Amino acid sequence: MSSTDKTQHKAKILVSDDDLNVRLLTRQCLEAEGMIVVEATNGPETLDVFVRERPDLVFLDVEMPGMNGLEVCKRIRKMPQGESIPIMIVTGSNDRRSIDQGFEAGATQYKTKPVNWSLLGRDVHYMLRASNAFNALKRQEDRLRYLAYYDPLTSLPNRRSFNEQLNRILKRSQRRNSNAALLFIDLDHFKRINDSIGHGRGDRLLVEIAKRLTVELREDDAINYLTENNAEDDNDLDGNTEIARLGGDEFTVVLSDVPNIAHVELVAKRILHSLSEPIQLQSHNPVVTPSIGIALYPHDGTDPDTLVRNADTAMYVAKAEGRACYRFYDEEMNATAVEQLKMEEELRHAMRNDELELRYQPQVDITNGKVVSMEALVRWKHPERGMVSPLEFIPIAESTGQIVELGEWVLSEVARHCSYWDTLPIDKFRICVNISPMQFNQTDLPSYISKFLEQSGLPPNRLELEFTESAIMTDAETNIAKLAELKAIGIDLAVDDFGTGYSSLSYLKRFPIDTLKIDQSFVADLDTADGAAIIDAILALAKALNLRVIAEGIETQDQLRYLVKKRCRLLQGYYFSRPIYPEDVPTMLMQNFTSFIDEVTKD
Ligand code: C2E
Ligand code: MG
Ligand code: MG
Repeated sequence: MSSTDKTQHKAKILVSDDDLNVRLLTRQCLEAEGMIVVEATNGPETLDVFVRERPDLVFLDVEMPGMNGLEVCKRIRKMPQGESIPIMIVTGSNDRRSIDQGFEAGATQYKTKPVNWSLLGRDVHYMLRASNAFNALKRQEDRLRYLAYYDPLTSLPNRRSFNEQLNRILKRSQRRNSNAALLFIDLDHFKRINDSIGHGRGDRLLVEIAKRLTVELREDDAINYLTENNAEDDNDLDGNTEIARLGGDEFTVVLSDVPNIAHVELVAKRILHSLSEPIQLQSHNPVVTPSIGIALYPHDGTDPDTLVRNADTAMYVAKAEGRACYRFYDEEMNATAVEQLKMEEELRHAMRNDELELRYQPQVDITNGKVVSMEALVRWKHPERGMVSPLEFIPIAESTGQIVELGEWVLSEVARHCSYWDTLPIDKFRICVNISPMQFNQTDLPSYISKFLEQSGLPPNRLELEFTESAIMTDAETNIAKLAELKAIGIDLAVDDFGTGYSSLSYLKRFPIDTLKIDQSFVADLDTADGAAIIDAILALAKALNLRVIAEGIETQDQLRYLVKKRCRLLQGYYFSRPIYPEDVPTMLMQNFTSFIDEVTKD
């Protein structure tokens, strides 16, 4: 056995015995093992020395004057630092009862006199090692508990703690018949700041914000504590202000025993003020303002879910009303407007967090059954809402201007996929990309597209842009020029949802377009006389203007039969395929749909 313990520091052993000889012998043995020995000669002294010296192990004689060893052992076990310390009890009596008593008092090991001195050092080593292992395990457990309830970055309670806090506080408020307030704090433009200063500094910024919140609100605690100190019903006056970080740049503050609204307002103002001070981060001093939404218990809700939802709503209203402010929830806050605002905020997040994905829907040429083109369709895989349809979020992106960034993302994703497909032995095909009205109205769309083609290496004739009829028909003169510019790059242009807007035929002739996409509502209406008539008219028009024509939304064999009979050359719809994952595109291209066509033309 080596003479030093594995741990760096020397183990300190408290030897407690009224017999001088025993103390001397024990000291000799243990010092020979490289340990430090401190002594006590009776019960009370043992407790004193224990507190003062914080030994790693206690050696305890049972028969001592004043207080016997069993009692000393029990008392040590009750002290915070004595809970897990190894204690070896030494006694003259070796009957079963005394041994049991020793263990009941909390002894780790039991030795009977006469002590075998040659083995003592080894035994102590074993006990220390076991104790170290136990302590390591305990630390690990503490750490796990910590991780489960605290945010490791800011050391604030996390979402889970927040939920428990809020539950507890609401229950207590109900019992005491008192008011509480929930403040939802979200940092304005945090994503943008985070991206510009780098994520390392972004983290430090969050830590600083957490610190400011804590410092700012701690004074409150002290004040509340003094005035509340004689409250009778609960002992848990562990602070009336609970702060938590829910994740990202979202923080919460829960105030309990709120005397009045003015008090909550004061707290909100102080948070606003203190967080908005510039933050020193090496060469950067960003100013980060918060938007704060507030819901009151019981006025705005009596259960945690309602309060959280309403504070969240109020927070979005604060954002909408210019940010850097606080808003109290009120029922007037329009739910759908708030939903939209929320979606806007989330969409911003989605674009930077890979929540958007593309699908491709094949377009089939009926003359040979081949897939000649694919339409790229964007999808939003929302972490909570699941798949969100572009019909829901494209209009929002349009109205907020986010569509520009979104459109650029779609194109870059298309380029990425194409460069992969081009390495495979499959036929080249055209990619159709939807361009929203706002994107189209951007003055620099043509130069953006040519730059894009240059950088991506995608040949212009493989790209077709789809514009809606209404987008190009408003201000037709300007748009003709713009379309001509795009056309000059060598790409194809299509009019999407054709037939739904108002197309002036005289203009249509002058538009440098290649394709008309018959809106799917007409295909859906094919079983009505009107639906069929409109399709016939569009097909005739396309023929007269020498345009390619494609019908979309084909779901049934009857629809297919009609369109094939009328020689509508390109078709797209669930009947052939739903929009598919990019990885399934190569297989799709190898498929041939001739049998579908034959089936409807066989008689
Ligand atoms: P759209 O350009 O007219 O696209 C056709 C829509 O019809 C797609 O819906 C497609 O999934 C759906 N569809 C295809 N075949 C059938 C069928 O047989 N039956 C039925 N019921 N529907 C069919 P999706 O993907 O939900 O897109 C809706 C609209 O959102 C698109 O209409 C387009 O206007 C817009 N959109 C989609 N992706 C983008 C994009 O990347 N950028 C822009 N600006 N708009 C996009
Ligand atoms: Mg389209
Ligand atoms: Mg369409």
